[in-house]
Amino acid sequence: MGFGDLLSLIHACAKCPMLAAVCHGRKDLRVEWIEDRALAPDEVRVAVAFGGICGSDMHYYQRGAVGDFRLREPMTLGHEVSGIVMEVGAAVSDLAPGTKAALDPSRPCLTCSYCRAGRSNLCTNMRYLGSAARFPHVQGGFAQHLVLHRQQIVPVPQTSDLHRLSVAEPLSVGLHAVNRAGVLAGKRVLVTGSGPIGLLTARSAHHCGAVEIVSTDIADAPLAVARAHMGAARTINVASHPESLAEFELDGGYFDVAFEASGSAAALGSIFRVIRRGGRIVQVGMLPPGTAPVPVNVLQSREIELVGAFRAHDEFRSAVDLIASGVIDVSPILSGVYPLSEAATALERAGDRSKVVKLHLALSPDGG
Ligand code: ZN
Repeated sequence: MGFGDLLSLIHACAKCPMLAAVCHGRKDLRVEWIEDRALAPDEVRVAVAFGGICGSDMHYYQRGAVGDFRLREPMTLGHEVSGIVMEVGAAVSDLAPGTKAALDPSRPCLTCSYCRAGRSNLCTNMRYLGSAARFPHVQGGFAQHLVLHRQQIVPVPQTSDLHRLSVAEPLSVGLHAVNRAGVLAGKRVLVTGSGPIGLLTARSAHHCGAVEIVSTDIADAPLAVARAHMGAARTINVASHPESLAEFELDGGYFDVAFEASGSAAALGSIFRVIRRGGRIVQVGMLPPGTAPVPVNVLQSREIELVGAFRAHDEFRSAVDLIASGVIDVSPILSGVYPLSEAATALERAGDRSKVVKLHLALSPDGG
């Protein structure tokens, strides 16, 4: 009997233990058995199909922390997930077992002032999959099964590709960043950083009518993806050609809008030299705390706007629709799939930007 067969047998009982990729600390990832739990009336159990490895998963694995959020107990990683409904709680009447779904990692409280104002991504009581922002930590989706609130389940047509749909979360971050930028139709846009979020932000800006997109990075491989598939008219490797941004400094700056998606203080600083007077900068990359000096005198005298973009809210549904309908093709960023048993290897390789944009784990034998 193979490993997969064994998993299938064990998986047959929803209440039995299941396997998950649990981070115990820096460089200590264990694929181990954890307990499944009973459903509350408004909850749904899913067999997780695919889980995308995000920069935050890599940071928890490599450093034991993401920004200010430090691991204080073992935590299952993962928040970019798709799956198939296994079982529904007593109060859930509109979902049948076997339904394919995109899985929203956000579980806002829906009652705080931010949720009621339509900005649930800023919820003060957010429970976000695979995040150490609160304690006890919210366990993540790199597991065979996952229990979520009904509101986190977005059913999709049964013909949908669950691998692509697991990109709905990072695409929603790009769409939210674009929404924070205001109207993009006819605008010239700069995107600094071409990791998955930078690429999907460029694609979102293209979808929303930006007339010219320039993408930057310090590696050539992701820039080729930006040019070929994400709508970038031009790309610049700022490591090998640091002088190339200078031409955009003329006439008080070239770009109407800039998205900082690299998480680099140097990249943010460079934007202030090429953004037009009155332009808007959207910070979507996560910078290490306390590392980004902002030239406030330039911001003030040129009336530049600097706004933050954090996760997403309604954009998750939009991202699911755009992927499921084929309007946005995310397949160019899919770089490979590893079995759950090789999660540590996948996390090691996910950072090789010469070969990888985004890697995925295949999680449940019944997950599609
Ligand atoms: Zn709330």
